[in-house]
Amino acid sequence: MWNTNPKNQREFKGGKEDWELAARLAQECPHFKPDDEDEMVADEAVSCYNCLYRRWTIKTFICCK
Ligand code: SF4
Repeated sequence: MWNTNPKNQREFKGGKEDWELAARLAQECPHFKPDDEDEMVADEAVSCYNCLYRRWTIKTFICCK
């Protein structure tokens, strides 16, 4: 589910459109915190794509937690 990038950060393998996996990971993550409403992109409220700790990259996002 994650790759480690050259900066040793956790990079999501599912890209920007694996809605199901992003939701599942967030449901299992103790650190999930909703981002500001205007930063939310997923319909599922609890999703890595909607998390305060995700930082978008060109192809996917990294988790800063
Ligand atoms: S982005 Fe990171 S901190 Fe946020 S829910 Fe996903 S795995 Fe957890």
